Amino acid sequence: MTELLFQTDSYIKEFEAEVKEVNEEGVVFDKTAFVYTGGGLQSDTGMMETSKGEKFIVKEVISKGGKIIHKLSPEPTEQLFGENVKCIIDWESRYRQMRMHTALHSISGLLFRKYGAVVTGGNITAKRSRVDFEIDHLHKERVQEITKELEKIIEDNNLVSISFMERSEALKDPDLIRTKVNLIPESVKILRIVEIENVDRQADGGVHVRSTKEIGTFIPLKSENRGKNNKRLYFTLEP
Ligand SMILES: [Zn+2]
Repeated sequence: MTELLFQTDSYIKEFEAEVKEVNEEGVVFDKTAFVYTGGGLQSDTGMMETSKGEKFIVKEVISKGGKIIHKLSPEPTEQLFGENVKCIIDWESRYRQMRMHTALHSISGLLFRKYGAVVTGGNITAKRSRVDFEIDHLHKERVQEITKELEKIIEDNNLVSISFMERSEALKDPDLIRTKVNLIPESVKILRIVEIENVDRQADGGVHVRSTKEIGTFIPLKSENRGKNNKRLYFTLEP
């Protein structure tokens, strides 16, 4: 099992690791700070360098068969097995993804508090993101209202904190029930909880910023009607 360094510290930009496996798809480390594709998040990219100075591009990181696989260019050879390597994450896009993710959770919290609306999906990229939620109307005034509420949350600079909780405890927590904690596979006994002070609380494995001010300026792009009770909002952030 690869230790996921980003789950306790999202701000690690460089780290050292040992290559534990080389397979036809890439390499597996003992630990990693690279975010992998999944759960609505995009894979990080970056660089890997061996102790002999050989450099590789980390093109994508995926989770497959319980392994976190780093796809490299050029393709790795068996000789990498057991190597100690240094990795650097492409921080610019990763940090934007962290800001987007905290924005999405903040929207989730405010939609529920203000409209009783539940978020049903989302997708995050460094460029733009989207959030899907259950609400009857999403007209222009409502998008403006959501934007205003979110701007206030950003201005308030609410802290984002990470904690860990037993599954049995989480299943009793109203906030976590609302965000469908019961859908997390039963094999997961300890849940990671991401809390945005006064705004949102949910079980989540992804990377976030430390406080809402880091989100920056929220810019709604367009909204879509995807059915009677299903609306989609695209957004981006400045700068
Ligand atoms: Zn999330």
